[in-house]
Amino acid sequence: MTWRSVAARIALACIAALLVCAPRPAHGQGGDAADWTADFRPAMRPAAQGDMLAHSTAPRYTIALDIAPGADETLVSGQQTVSYTNRLTTALDTIVFRLYPNLDSFGARMTVGDVTVEGVTVERVTIAPDLDATHTVLTVPLSDPLPPGESVTLSMPFAITITNDSRDLYGQFGVLDGVLALPEAYPVLSVYEPGRGWWQETEHPLGDAVFSETAFYDVHVTAPAELILTASGSEIDLTSNDDGTLTHRFVAPLMRDFSLAASPHYVTLTGEQDGVLIRLLYDPAPEGTQTATQHALQVARDALRIYSELYGPYPFAELDIAQTPNSAGGLEYPGLIVLNGDVWAANTDYFTFLIVHEIAHQWWYSLVGNDQIRHPWIDEALAQYSVAQYILATEGEDAYAAALDSFRMQYEAFAATEGDAPIGLPISAYPDQATYWAFIYQKGPAFFALLDEQYGRDAVISALRALFAADRYGIATPDGVRSMFEQTLGTDLDALFADWVGGFPVG
Ligand SMILES: [Zn+2]
Repeated sequence: MTWRSVAARIALACIAALLVCAPRPAHGQGGDAADWTADFRPAMRPAAQGDMLAHSTAPRYTIALDIAPGADETLVSGQQTVSYTNRLTTALDTIVFRLYPNLDSFGARMTVGDVTVEGVTVERVTIAPDLDATHTVLTVPLSDPLPPGESVTLSMPFAITITNDSRDLYGQFGVLDGVLALPEAYPVLSVYEPGRGWWQETEHPLGDAVFSETAFYDVHVTAPAELILTASGSEIDLTSNDDGTLTHRFVAPLMRDFSLAASPHYVTLTGEQDGVLIRLLYDPAPEGTQTATQHALQVARDALRIYSELYGPYPFAELDIAQTPNSAGGLEYPGLIVLNGDVWAANTDYFTFLIVHEIAHQWWYSLVGNDQIRHPWIDEALAQYSVAQYILATEGEDAYAAALDSFRMQYEAFAATEGDAPIGLPISAYPDQATYWAFIYQKGPAFFALLDEQYGRDAVISALRALFAADRYGIATPDGVRSMFEQTLGTDLDALFADWVGGFPVG
């Protein structure tokens, strides 16, 4: 494989008039605890709706976004209210938000106005409530520390200015060829890690940038009527405004983050699998697209069925697959994957691979979260190993063995010339795309293939089912993955993990 082809493939790296929003009751406290879930129910399959009450202390976002495309720039203005419950054992004296559009790899400009805590404007220390040098970490001080178990409501206006057709890393965020890709287009709560504090990593251009907790999203998006929108969760309401715009209401319960894409050229093909609505949004003009889209729907149906049977059911009512001009090939977001339109129309095995890989991320990254910057191997190696499971289910044993061999051989060929490294390093420890690809995307699944060989595939799948059951809507850590495999396989895996994953980082 040439470096160029490696680079092209790594690119799939995967690396997601303001409305006045009605205030929501805080965390079902002091009222009918079931009431607040009613609006979210359409976005979850009936069997999973109880999960909402089981995770009722997850953050709750109410967001209004107004999208105003212009000739040269697109302006996204917003208003956000977040109810945050302290689920730690210690009091918090700050709340940290991440402004991902300000990352170099997102390439936009995001500002946040006055922040209020329980309706009281936060006093600004300098320009803003402590914005870091990268303008991606917004620290909001709390005048009274938030005790464990208590909730606080924060509100803030914000604005994002996007230069149209500015192609930054992967084209993952922005407006390209009239298509809007808007993952994390709001201030995203960061993750407080006991012993480490609020997560404040900045991106590394080789991989994914976001680390967040599962939350409830109620989002009103106002946009020109000609834009066809898709987003995490389900659209439950659409209203026309006097100025010709439309306001779409999306609800996205128990989602890792909220992503949005839009285009005036989208048409939609829908299908269904086990009660999950699958929506494909694509530009029908390029030759071959219709055939490719029919193929993509079948692949998506198969992948949803196979992964649900293996790991545990996909809990959401909808999964969307949309074209964007991203150069990654594919990118994963909760309830939404985006795929490059040229790859889509070409409809080769690579297209199939992308669909299957990105859908696997619904289990590994979206439902079971992980720190994608410090521990990228968890979600990427498991997505790759899942691709092999899809191959087993659709093509049989020989193809499965060949897929596992392929991971191992590609890794070994790289290590033979460039030297070996563990898979458990943060993105920044891998010096270039070829290295990152070899260790995270090839050696990573080769590690699970080794466990598969030594202990049997059934045992590995049992461990992954247990991991999914334990960390669904939560966050998996390397130690957690190891102990889940040790419990399931009934053996000590310290030496094997030290050899393959490495002793760093622990946590
Ligand atoms: Zn991936």
